[in-house]
Amino acid sequence: MSELRFDVIQDAFKKKAAVVETPAVKTSEYFGELVFNRDKMRKYLDDKTFKAIVNCIDNGEPLDRKTADGVAAGMKTWAMEHGVTHVTHWFQPLTDGTAEKHDSFMEYDGKGGMIETFDGKALAQQEPDASSFPSGGIRATFEARGYTAWDPTSPVFIQDDTLCIPTVFISYTGEALDYKTPLKKALKAVSDAAVPICQMFDPKVKKVFSYLGWEQEYFLVDEDLYAARPDLMLTGRTLMGHASSKNQQLDDHYFGAIPSRVAAFMRDIEIAGYKLGIPLKTRHNEVAPNQFELAPIYGETNLSNDQNQQMMNVMNSIARKHGFVVLFHEKPFDGINGSGKHNNWSLGTDTGTLLLAPGKDAMGNLQFVTFFVNVLAAVQKHNDILKASIATATNAHRLGANEAPPAIVSAFLGRTMTAVLKKLLEVPSDTPIEIAGKKGKSVGLVEIPEIFVDNTDRNRTSPFAFTGNRFEFRAVGSSANCAGAMTTLNAAVAEQLIAFKADVDKEIKAGKAMNIAIMDTLKPIIKSIIDVVCFDGNGYTDEWKAEAKKRGLDTLTNVPEMFKSFTTPKAIELFTKLGVYTEKELEARNEVKWEIYTKKVQIEARVTGRMALNHIIPAALDYQTKLLKNIDLMKDVYGDSYKDMAAVSMGFVTKISELVNKLKVQVDDMVEARKKANVIEGEYEKALAYHEIAESLFPLRKTIDKLEEVVDNDMWPLPKYRELLFIN
Ligand code: ADP
Ligand code: MG
Repeated sequence: MSELRFDVIQDAFKKKAAVVETPAVKTSEYFGELVFNRDKMRKYLDDKTFKAIVNCIDNGEPLDRKTADGVAAGMKTWAMEHGVTHVTHWFQPLTDGTAEKHDSFMEYDGKGGMIETFDGKALAQQEPDASSFPSGGIRATFEARGYTAWDPTSPVFIQDDTLCIPTVFISYTGEALDYKTPLKKALKAVSDAAVPICQMFDPKVKKVFSYLGWEQEYFLVDEDLYAARPDLMLTGRTLMGHASSKNQQLDDHYFGAIPSRVAAFMRDIEIAGYKLGIPLKTRHNEVAPNQFELAPIYGETNLSNDQNQQMMNVMNSIARKHGFVVLFHEKPFDGINGSGKHNNWSLGTDTGTLLLAPGKDAMGNLQFVTFFVNVLAAVQKHNDILKASIATATNAHRLGANEAPPAIVSAFLGRTMTAVLKKLLEVPSDTPIEIAGKKGKSVGLVEIPEIFVDNTDRNRTSPFAFTGNRFEFRAVGSSANCAGAMTTLNAAVAEQLIAFKADVDKEIKAGKAMNIAIMDTLKPIIKSIIDVVCFDGNGYTDEWKAEAKKRGLDTLTNVPEMFKSFTTPKAIELFTKLGVYTEKELEARNEVKWEIYTKKVQIEARVTGRMALNHIIPAALDYQTKLLKNIDLMKDVYGDSYKDMAAVSMGFVTKISELVNKLKVQVDDMVEARKKANVIEGEYEKALAYHEIAESLFPLRKTIDKLEEVVDNDMWPLPKYRELLFIN
């Protein structure tokens, strides 16, 4: 066996679980140790400063400079007690992951020595050089100024020796250059839109929260095997690799025992997560071998999304301690399941009512149905941008494949809620929506179970599924920043709620009672959605694709084209009216998305080409030479009858020639296509050309995979799927 491959397999296989330093106290005692939360604020800030910052967090009141100085001083004292020496503004640019630029606390004290300083100005705002972050032409590179501004609603935290301040990232001219800014605007919009509706039911409601509970799927690969795969190192996925004889067909991985090295890793990331105040709840094996999942208890969307980004960073760094690399890519391996990040989403009031869960009485149920129906209407109207919000070059491999949501956004309601909506269309508008069982046997009543216990009524093929007290947006990719999807969803819902409330008000003005006005407004909406966006069937079938098209849902599968939906008049109206994005921002973001799409495919194409020429073809030819020598020797020994004796070798020689020649042509064609694409001017047109190149990588890898089947195992230069997927 090629020495390198043999060695890395052996080394990887022999690794034992790393020792995890478990805190001596119970989890609740160190939970949140590394975040400057309210407990720390109370302890490290004076009373006046504490009240001012809480008022700023809870009610959006601005902070004056003196208060900011006070907060910074308290943070510095707390941080230095934890050995912190540096501070950074932590933000989420439009690339993958987060960005930070560390500055130390050190300043000259003016007396020849040094002193640690950190004040309100440094806390509130910084000016990192924004020129190297994608901006979609908003900011020409020579005008490099962008700034980061503190987001007090997400607590400051400590990572190693650095105090991290969650911030938004904005261009000098005021355009958002990050994920957080529009998300916060959408969250405010949905709260402002939902509160007046909630107040019809409970005048005490002042604020509505959007909640997010993410489920992070990921793969773990041994770092030695990873380092022997240039494709994994440079693109995060395997660009070639024949299927392992055993894959996920026995379903023996899902919920199986967690391998010991992996269990140690999970324990370690959980400890780190708890210290950061992240309420991690669930861990388990996923469907594919070496695939796992991690999920916290849901929380307010902006905070929960920050925590997801923090966790991804923590997982990347802790994995190396355990000899693993985490793959967040949506499709690291062909032929087995990819990874998603289900976004469980709901709305809830500051009085503690979940708006997408059944209520305690008929009025509570009316409120629930009101929000339920309006969410569906929003998803129907904006199904195209919801899909575009989760579309990326990497998630494209997962969507539409038979494992993940199809490239069509529809909603799964389940039998109960479908029946409820249909029933509501039949009964008079003042019929109360009762809690099931309360009034004895139901005849002609509209009934809702108080709690949906029926977990079996689930549909894995739906991208947007109702699961009892929330919707699960399942199409989000594992490597994504949830903010893209959450901004779009919350904005769409906000727009719908505003229109709905205006219609209800008209009915009330015309003299109708509140509940009748609501139901009369809901009925036409129910009629318009029940046979369009609502779909409980199998989303994987071709019939559904045809049917969805007939229903007017967006069925595009080409990712660069999907982004265009963000600049249709409908989308521009949505986002500009709510103040979530300006038209310029929408255009700029599309530019960024096309550019990132192009670059990702370009890198994959280059890596594939080079690996084909420098790894695969040489290995195949080496083996062919070995076979030819064998044939030669046969000739020496058997004379004329060598052809029969060397039939197998001769067959393989021919096969290798055919495949190698084919592969070379495929690589040459791809290089030509790239040359043509690279000179295209517009980002959109270029991304379209790269979309074609992305499609061509699939037949190309099939040729390589066929060679893997033929070539001597000893001579194959790359760790194989069976090694990448089954060593842990
Ligand atoms: P599943 O059965 O889909 O795997 P899990 O129990 O793993 O579900 O939970 C999925 C996520 O949904 C968790 O983060 C959980 O806290 C979250 N969740 C539960 N209720 C809500 C809600 N009302 N709003 C948002 N997220 C929620
Ligand atoms: Mg789930």
